Order: sequence, then C-alpha cells, then structure tokens
Amino acid sequence: MNDKVNNPGDGKDKKPSLNFIEAMIERDLKEGRVKEIITRFPPEPNGYLHIGHAKAINLNFSLAEKYNGKCNLRFDDTNPVAEEDEYVQAIKEDIRWLGYEWSGEYFASDYFDRLYEWAVMLIKKGKAYVDDQTAEEIAATRGTPTRPGKESPWRNRSVEENLRLLEGMKNGEFEEGSKVLRAKIDMASPNMHLRDPAMYRIRKVSHHRTGNKWNIYPMYDFAHGQSDYIEGVTHSLCTLEFEVHRPLYDWFLDQILEDPEGYRPRQTEFARLNLNYTVMSKRKLLQLVEEGHVSGWDDPRMPTISGMRRRGYTAAAIRTFSERVGIAKRNNIIDISLLEHCVREDLNKISQRVFAVLDPIKVIITNFPVGEEEEMMAVNNPENPEAGRRPIMFGRELYIEREDFMEDPPKKFFRLGPGRMVRLKYAYIVKCIDYKKDEQGRVQELHCEYIPESRSGSDTSDIKVKGTIHWLPAKHVRTAEIRMYDRLFNNEDPAGHKDRDFKEFLNPDSLRVVENALIEEQFVDAGPLEHFQFERKGYFNVDPDSTPEKPVFNLTVTLRDAWAKIKGK
Ligand code: ATP
Ligand code: MG
Repeated sequence: MNDKVNNPGDGKDKKPSLNFIEAMIERDLKEGRVKEIITRFPPEPNGYLHIGHAKAINLNFSLAEKYNGKCNLRFDDTNPVAEEDEYVQAIKEDIRWLGYEWSGEYFASDYFDRLYEWAVMLIKKGKAYVDDQTAEEIAATRGTPTRPGKESPWRNRSVEENLRLLEGMKNGEFEEGSKVLRAKIDMASPNMHLRDPAMYRIRKVSHHRTGNKWNIYPMYDFAHGQSDYIEGVTHSLCTLEFEVHRPLYDWFLDQILEDPEGYRPRQTEFARLNLNYTVMSKRKLLQLVEEGHVSGWDDPRMPTISGMRRRGYTAAAIRTFSERVGIAKRNNIIDISLLEHCVREDLNKISQRVFAVLDPIKVIITNFPVGEEEEMMAVNNPENPEAGRRPIMFGRELYIEREDFMEDPPKKFFRLGPGRMVRLKYAYIVKCIDYKKDEQGRVQELHCEYIPESRSGSDTSDIKVKGTIHWLPAKHVRTAEIRMYDRLFNNEDPAGHKDRDFKEFLNPDSLRVVENALIEEQFVDAGPLEHFQFERKGYFNVDPDSTPEKPVFNLTVTLRDAWAKIKGK
C-alpha cells in the first residue's frame, strides 16, 4: 500500500483506452452475459462521505451512465452500533451535490428477513452451525495462513439444535458474545476467510430502521453479495481489501442461487484512493469531530465531501479529480496538490473577481480633488467575457495591502516604496511621495500622487511601471471575516506512523482568522457557498456562517499551483 506518491497525468493527453472495469463490462455486454449494467454505491451510514467515497461514487454512477444502466444507492446498515439516520441524510445530500441521482434506494436492513431465511436454509443443508465458543476461542483456533485451524467442538450439532439455537439468538435468549452462527466451510482452507466465517452475531442494540426487532445482525460477508443478488446488481465494485473476501462472496451466492447457470452478481476490486496529508477512515474522522479538533464533519479542513463543499471545492472539480486519478488494480498515494489543481482549474473558469484587502493601509491621493470620485471598470472574469465588468470608484482615499508597500524596498520589489510608482489595477499609476507611522512605528498611511494621463485603457503617460496592485475605495468597502485554511496535517502520512497517534500531526496553523479584512461593498450579501477570486490572493467562498452584518469568507485554495510546478509547467 505504501508505494511512492503517484503523479498521474494532467488529463490533457486523453487516453481513449478503456480501464479494466470498462473492458470487462464491454465484454460482458458483447458476449451476452448481462443485458443491462447495474452497479451500486454501498455506504455504511456510520459517518459522512469523504473524498475516497467520491471516487467510488464517480466510478459506479458514471459506468451506469456510460452503458445506459442503473446505479443504486444501498445503505449497508448491518452494524447498528455506529449507524444513524443523520448519516443517511448527509450521504444522500452529498451524492446529489456531486451531481448523481440513484435509480433505487435500498437498505441492507430491508433484507434482514430474507437473510434470516437463507441462514435457516443453510443450517438445513448442513452448511451452518451455532458455535458457543467465545470470540477469543474462535480467533485462537482459526490457525494461520500456513497452519490449518481447529474445528469447533460445536461444529457437528444437529440441524434441529442449530435451528432452535438460531431462533433463540434471534429472540434475545442469549447474551451478546455467547454464540455466533458460522458457515461450515473448511477450517483448513488456505483462505482464512473460508475458515467457518461468522454469519450472525448477537447484538442487543436498537437499529436506526428496524428498532428492537432483531437481537442478531448479519456480518458484512453474509449480507453484501445477497443484497447485490436481490437488487440484480451485475457488477459489484469494491476496494482491493475485499479481494480476499471474494471466494466467500461467491460461496454464499452458490448456496442461495436458484439457477446456478443463471444470473449472479460479480465482485470486482479496484484500488482505493489514498491522498497524502490527510486521513480517510471514518473512524479517525469521527475522532477529530468528537474530540473537537475540527468544528464538525463539514469543517472546511476535513476531507469529507461536506467539508470540501463548505470550503468552496466544486462538484465538477471533485469529479474531474476522480477521473484523472483513474481506476487501477494497485494501491497508490495521490498527491493532494492534484486535487487542489482541479479545484483551481474549475474556479478559474467560474469565479467572479473581487478586490479584497486582508491587511489594509490607507492611501491618500493628495492631488485628487476632495469629495470627488471617478468610475473605473473592473473585469469580472477574464476567462468569461460574458461576465462583463463592474464599476469601482476611484477617489482620494483608498486602501491597499500592507505587504504592497516597503519603507526600504529592494530593487526587485516592483510595488510601492518611497518615491516608487505602481499601477493600481483598472485605474491610475500612482507615486508614493510620503508615509506616516503610528506610535508603535507601524506604517499607517501613504501619501501618493496619481498621474492623470495614466488612466487604464487610455494611458498616454509613457510611464512604464513593472507592478500592478489591487486596491479599494475607502468609501465603498465593508469589513469581513476571512478564514485562512491550511492543511489539517503537517505530515504526508499522518496515520502511517507505528508508535505515534495521527493527531500528533495536526497542523496548529491550519486555521488563521483575519477579523477585519476589507472587500468591495457590493459583495457582502453574496449567497452561501458563492465562489470568488480575491485578486492576487486566492479563491474564496462565502461560509454558511456569513450574515450581511458580518460576512465570512473561506479560503478555498491559493492561486499558487504546486501541481503545475510538479508537472513542470
Ligand atoms: P472507511 O474505511 O473510511 O470507514 P469504508 O470503506 O468503511 O470507509 P463504506 O461506507 O463501507 O466505507 O464505503 C462505501 C463504499 O465506498 C465501498 O464500496 C468502499 O469500497 C468505497 N470506498 C471507501 N473508501 C474508499 C476510498 N478511499 N477509495 C475508493 N473507494 C472507497
Ligand atoms: Mg465499510
């Protein structure tokens, strides 16, 4: 699993070839093994979806789309301990937001009765038995990959006794952990999953859909293939760690198929998505939420779909990313800068440009008449001519970014300094003639002169300046809170250290709040999640916490593109 970080192509060199799953599907269709493709996305509702799930969603839904088939949503809710309706709702919202609609909506818990009937059938066929051993005893007698396991002393109970005990388990007559139902397969199989795997365990917990009806719940392996079968799924796609479960998936199907030559679902494995600088197991993400390291599942630093949405990532960017990562048979680690690159690429096309100043200093244009204003026209989106222009008022008092001025600038600093000139974007060239400091010695105010002949678009001044900076008219700004996000972890593989907890690698600077940034007044009432490019700063969106009185923006991604650098562009 820990191969080196992988750098897939940038997608420009389109490869027409099919991935191995598409090739398989085309063969199945051509040779008449299946008439219609049916896939499914089977989340367990025990947490929010993350970017890894987005890859599986994209795969299942886009295959169904491409081959005119169907993709179902099935909640794999066989373990009530961690499952909740809140997660069901969040999962549905996230899939829809990604742009997909499922054909059928199912729950594995809808099949509990049928699964139970199949368990009874297996007992009657002599292929399942109730084991009274404890979990520890079962584990201790399982053997090792090179040494066969030991058969349970309860393995040869009579059918009648097994039926009676299973029913007792169902009715709550036995304590949790005191009995399990096991498939009777082969304690010497080289595949450990075939050494009499558990089918049902006792859990006296209420289920989010079936309430207290059941005291036993089926194991994943006894539920998944059968659920696929009930729904007519043709291609059951899952991640590589299930490859070793496939013989068991097939074994259970063999026991229940009415027509061994007829329809059966097939499991195929693909490599899961691994990203550096993050963790992706729901259990770990839950810990971050429960221990308050983040504000919730949708904290903009989380690798969850809801976190990314709140952060300003677009569904289109996530889909593009999933496609570029591609489908492979081998696990690898994808560089997170590829995801950021896809986000930037999409936002560049769609974002309204805005001037915002995060750390302002006042500028007085000493030769501009008091009380007057002049309308400048700013381009809304250079990537989209239809987005048009907007007015921005040039006046005597302006703001610029503190870092665009230096008292004693080096030669190559092409912004402002005493006696230096710079262009104010969409407006005039200005020259700094003086500056004032406050009592702490901090620069407080610049005095500049503007060059009236240098107006953008009709510049007759003949002055060449190397720098262009953004600015704001002091009379037309509003303050906003800006949340500057950085990676949640400052280590490439936070969960990959043997003796250290992944939380030791939390980045203490992953959130920096800028309280009193300034933005163009016309954007303060932008709707939640609306996207902007703050010129020269990065892409930002409106956080749902935002109100007209207190606008709040999130840094989605900076303008600097580490991925383009890696690719040598
Ligand atoms: P986690 O380990 O994060 O809890 P999971 O695999 O237990 O994830 P499920 O809800 O069972 O989560 O997953 C639903 C589907 O999403 C499964 O088919 C699973 O294989 C797929 N999936 C989960 N994580 C990834 C990933 N990182 N890359 C690709 N597919 C994934
Ligand atoms: Mg799972």
